[in-house]
Amino acid sequence: MKTEKLYYTDPYKKTLNAKVVEVDDDKVYLDKTICYPEGGGQPGDVGKLDSFEISDTQKDGDAVYHVVKNNDFKAGDEVNLSLDWNHRYKYMKMHTAQHIVSGVLYNKFKVGTLSVHQGDKILTIEIDRDEFPLNLCHELEDEVNNAIISSHDVSYIVKDEEEAQKIKIRRSIKAHGIIRFVDIEGVDLIACGGLHVGNTSEVSSILYVSQEIVRSHVRLIFKVAEEAKSEIRNIQHIVSTLNVRHSTQTFEILDCDKKSTEKILELERENRTLCVNLAKNLLAGMIKKDGAVICEDVSSNPIDLSFYKDAIDGDDVALLLIMRTETDARWMIYLGPSFSHFSLKILKKEIFPIVNAKGGGRPPFFQGKCDNTNIDQLFESFRTLMNEKKQ
Ligand SMILES: [Zn+2]
Repeated sequence: MKTEKLYYTDPYKKTLNAKVVEVDDDKVYLDKTICYPEGGGQPGDVGKLDSFEISDTQKDGDAVYHVVKNNDFKAGDEVNLSLDWNHRYKYMKMHTAQHIVSGVLYNKFKVGTLSVHQGDKILTIEIDRDEFPLNLCHELEDEVNNAIISSHDVSYIVKDEEEAQKIKIRRSIKAHGIIRFVDIEGVDLIACGGLHVGNTSEVSSILYVSQEIVRSHVRLIFKVAEEAKSEIRNIQHIVSTLNVRHSTQTFEILDCDKKSTEKILELERENRTLCVNLAKNLLAGMIKKDGAVICEDVSSNPIDLSFYKDAIDGDDVALLLIMRTETDARWMIYLGPSFSHFSLKILKKEIFPIVNAKGGGRPPFFQGKCDNTNIDQLFESFRTLMNEKKQ
């Protein structure tokens, strides 16, 4: 089966009347199509076939099929195909931008492209370098944007395989048979079966966003056209919001952020010291003598349960603290030297079930969550257990 591929002859055609030639479950084959099938890092087209959604387009040898779920088409049906043009045009621009970036990388920086991906929001290009400094990324971005606004026409050259191999390009030709070259005049010439815009000016602009290392190579990340514009506007919004919040100007914002972070860390340290001191005072009120078994509901105290742990200094007591919330409670157990033979296993067996307790820990501290009911019974059982088997 062979499908007439009108997306090559007229990549700007948005609707088409065609005939169904075969239906295989969700796969609908037409005699001709304007839908580009996934390939070369570009996703398959989406759109509508009559009133049904085309969720994807894929290649099948010389044929192209449209993925149309729950369709009721049959061979011979006359159908109307309409493309989701925003989706398609976005990828035409992104794909063309990729050629320009790879062309500039090769011609100006002698850098090869290893792989590319056109995502929903970003364009990524993996290059044959393990580092590519920021100043070069910005030079690259400028060169690419210059090429975009220079309004180069994008044209095609078709050659047979033997003739194609004679043309000097930046990457070896993988395809066989008739080879289609994309020529962005003076910027890039490469064998490619993808779809592109007719003129570089349609791309508007690209923005270098960041980079990462994959398989020991740099992967450059870009935003293209509308995505580039909206990224810049988002960043402007964030910066102006921060400027208002901190009464600063843009050039001061990093310094202001550094000072704020340092201040927060300092306050956190001071707060911790105060809370641990308060916990020490509260514990001093609870612990009257060595060997005591103490149960306390500390929900009304203004400090977190964790501070009591730091405030205990080897005291020889058995301590069970409960901190209730509206929905459940947290518990903490400390077992001093006279109680060190009580294992987590014993606690789990004897007292955990009373309040449906969960948690763990290592001697002398255990902690976790439990129900906020039956706390009195929990305290009673803890006292009995500890006093009965105290060493
Ligand atoms: Zn291409």
